[in-house]
Amino acid sequence: MAELKCSICGNSFEPAESTALPFCSDRCRLIDLGRWLGEHYHVTVEREVPEDELESEFRD
Ligand SMILES: [Zn+2]
Repeated sequence: MAELKCSICGNSFEPAESTALPFCSDRCRLIDLGRWLGEHYHVTVEREVPEDELESEFRD
């Protein structure tokens, strides 16, 4: 069976050996979840900044 590469730790692993696909382990799955929640929180905070200020950052 083809190996998968865990996007969290970068290790190659056999899909049949993992109980936390597409990650190699529950630990990596939890890390991914934590990152997702962190990003979600970050986005929520950014939305409180007026749109005009956000756009001005991208103008040169
Ligand atoms: Zn992993």
